[in-house]
Amino acid sequence: MATTLLHHARLYLSLGFAVLPLHFPFARNSALQCSCGRDECRQPAKHPFGRLVRNGLKDASKDPAKAEQWFHSARFNIGIATGAASGIIVLDIDPRHAGDETLASLESEHGPLPATWRFLTGGGGEHIIFRHPGCKIPNSAGAVGPGLDVRGDGGYIVAPPSLHMSGRPYAISVDHHPEDVPLAEAPAWLLERVTATKAVNKARKAAEWRSLTRDGAVDGERNVTIARLSGLLLGRRLDPHICLDLVLAFNATRCKPPLPDDEVVATVASIARRELGARALHRLGGGDHG
Ligand SMILES: [Zn+2]
Repeated sequence: MATTLLHHARLYLSLGFAVLPLHFPFARNSALQCSCGRDECRQPAKHPFGRLVRNGLKDASKDPAKAEQWFHSARFNIGIATGAASGIIVLDIDPRHAGDETLASLESEHGPLPATWRFLTGGGGEHIIFRHPGCKIPNSAGAVGPGLDVRGDGGYIVAPPSLHMSGRPYAISVDHHPEDVPLAEAPAWLLERVTATKAVNKARKAAEWRSLTRDGAVDGERNVTIARLSGLLLGRRLDPHICLDLVLAFNATRCKPPLPDDEVVATVASIARRELGARALHRLGGGDHG
């Protein structure tokens, strides 16, 4: 008898999806851990299972024999490649970033989304699936609106019946099951946002940064501003020492009044830890600032 996992894998292949095995939550010392075993795993139970798919997402497959081999043991999480590879794009609703509210307000403006396939994520979110429109669809986080991500070409989703790190399973929405509901086209307003907002967003963000670096920050905003600026610079892979020098100069010339240097160093180090890992923190700590 086929396992639930294999049953889902077969369903996905019948829909034309390419699938791949992902890491999964693993109980250790009565807590759930990612099966990769790394304490600092950045995508617990969501990243490709490298021993089986050495090239990650590129090894996603539509081959039934492979799917049987990967998923007969009901052990792995299962991913679906999105984009042209599977003929779909996915709107990812993240309730932790108010995706529910954003979608509700967009629907009240443009009308409700058409009935189509929907998967419920183990983290309380939702994946709404549309037919791929045939043009290039980039992956994006928050480009459609706060809490709304798009998984397009070169992306993937964690799919039912995978287990989330919360211990809850992903599930196909019973009211939006591929066996009952046809796959819908994405509405024009959504596609417009998905394809056009990248440029619009970029322009809006650039204007914000320009005014920030020109006008500086006053008491009450200084720490947040320095953290954001550090995130911007480090996120673009600027050397942490250069970043620290630039942020110290910003603090001295644009913050009214400037924060103590050691506070700036601590903020930059904490952002560096988040953006670049512990090694960068070590380098900063051993630097000649502070
Ligand atoms: Zn992991």
